[in-house]
Amino acid sequence: MQQLQAARAILQAAGGRPGALCVLTGAGMSAESGIPTFRDALSGLWARFDPAELASEEGFRAHPQRVWDWYAERREGVRRAQPNAGHHALADHARRWPGRLVLVTQNVDDLHQRAGNADAIRLHGDILADRWLQTCPRRPACSTPDARPGRPPHCGVCGNLLRPGVVWFGEELPPSALAAARSAAEACTVMLVVGTSGAVWPAAGLVGQARQHGAKVIIVNPAASEIDDEAHWVLRGTAAQALPLLLDDTVPGV
Ligand code: NAD
Repeated sequence: MQQLQAARAILQAAGGRPGALCVLTGAGMSAESGIPTFRDALSGLWARFDPAELASEEGFRAHPQRVWDWYAERREGVRRAQPNAGHHALADHARRWPGRLVLVTQNVDDLHQRAGNADAIRLHGDILADRWLQTCPRRPACSTPDARPGRPPHCGVCGNLLRPGVVWFGEELPPSALAAARSAAEACTVMLVVGTSGAVWPAAGLVGQARQHGAKVIIVNPAASEIDDEAHWVLRGTAAQALPLLLDDTVPGV
């Protein structure tokens, strides 16, 4: 409770200037919406599947149907899921204090967007989007909606395969998203980190970067994370429980 009050005071004191609050979210943000995280020991996706096969280009090339089908199932889970109270608390805060909050997410679901944070910076892509496995050499490029149905769908002209629009292991993050996230981390007064293990880079590095530039760091996570040492306050709670308590009636100071 003391930690919560301290964190609320810091959030309040950060003021209302644009970009004062940078929020970095991870898979735990959507756990209470029923979307499993990758690393939670009991329910995590990696506990049941091999990440090298399901989240790498090599794995997709080796077993395209198996990987496509696995993503198809995850896409269904994302479509069925609804934003939770944590997503809504962030969206409500952004509505009440336009520009104050910059939201950076590692999540590939669309729950922040559906809650109302349309301009969330997506570091790891969009699971509901398709893109070609190989850059299309044709000009104009073959269009993904024209792909022939299949598992995975393929291009009737050049045979290219569709793949999910997420960042896989070993791939670069979208440069503009990463640059925007780094600027937000450097410019904020407070960084609020929600539901991430801090194990995936370069996203995890944003926390240290914010701190180096003088930001106060608050972590919300029910379990220990690899970046707890970088936080000024660690709140042991879940996203849906803690974010409304932290943000709902926060009135930024000047
Ligand atoms: P992670 O799976 O490595 O870690 C999840 C973290 O969330 C853990 O630290 C866990 O303690 C915490 N957590 C669990 N339940 C929570 C809750 N209710 N509230 C707050 N925190 C909770 O996730 P990560 O750090 O985001 O990194 C893994 C990668 O997995 C990311 O690149 C992300 O793209 C991808 N991913 C995304 C989704 C999604 O879009 N919803 C789901 C699974 C994985």
